[in-house]
Amino acid sequence: MNTQILVVEDEPAIGELIAVNLRHAGFSPTLAPDVTSARRHIDAALPDLIVLDWMLPDASGIDLARRLRAESRTREVPILMLTARAQESDKLSGFEAGADDYVTKPFSPRELIARVRALLRRASPAANDEVVEIAGLRLDPQTFRVTGDGTPISLSPTEFKLLHYLMKNPDRVLSRARLLDKVWGDHVYIEERTVDVHVRRLRVALQPTGHDRLIETVRGGGYRALPA
Ligand code: CA
Repeated sequence: MNTQILVVEDEPAIGELIAVNLRHAGFSPTLAPDVTSARRHIDAALPDLIVLDWMLPDASGIDLARRLRAESRTREVPILMLTARAQESDKLSGFEAGADDYVTKPFSPRELIARVRALLRRASPAANDEVVEIAGLRLDPQTFRVTGDGTPISLSPTEFKLLHYLMKNPDRVLSRARLLDKVWGDHVYIEERTVDVHVRRLRVALQPTGHDRLIETVRGGGYRALPA
């Protein structure tokens, strides 16, 4: 899947330089020249990472970072701050606002790409590839295999991702909005009841081994994978 990176930068030459380098490194960059258009992009589709300039025409990047950290939907998106200011105190306020890392202008594109890669690695640690198992239901993300008490279970890619996310977060109530973000890659034009449709299909697939009962519907909340 393409890694979507939102680049919020008001200086066209710098924005373009970053975008070209990101694209060259295999990422899919989108440019936003100010906080307002950044918000619009973020509302439409949650990016995998945000490169955020500090000084922007309509509001400061720090304000945007702070607001993103305060909202559950955007809280976990890695933020790489970009700024011409080099003072220690400014770096500190950047981190306090929620930036994960910091690059000072002028920067080398190679350094920027290295920081982006490091942040993405941190955001999706190798733990994502670990086998998860609950009460005899076993899912292996590396081989895309699911078994119930040793019996192979066939799932569509979406149902596989959905089950994986539920099993990685056992005993936690996961809202439909959150599941859409995490499993569908956050396209807000997908209706929340899409989640219900896929949960229903997932339950049907898990029924033969009785593992459908591991997925609980939480009234008014969403879904929860019961712990073992
Ligand atoms: Ca700027």
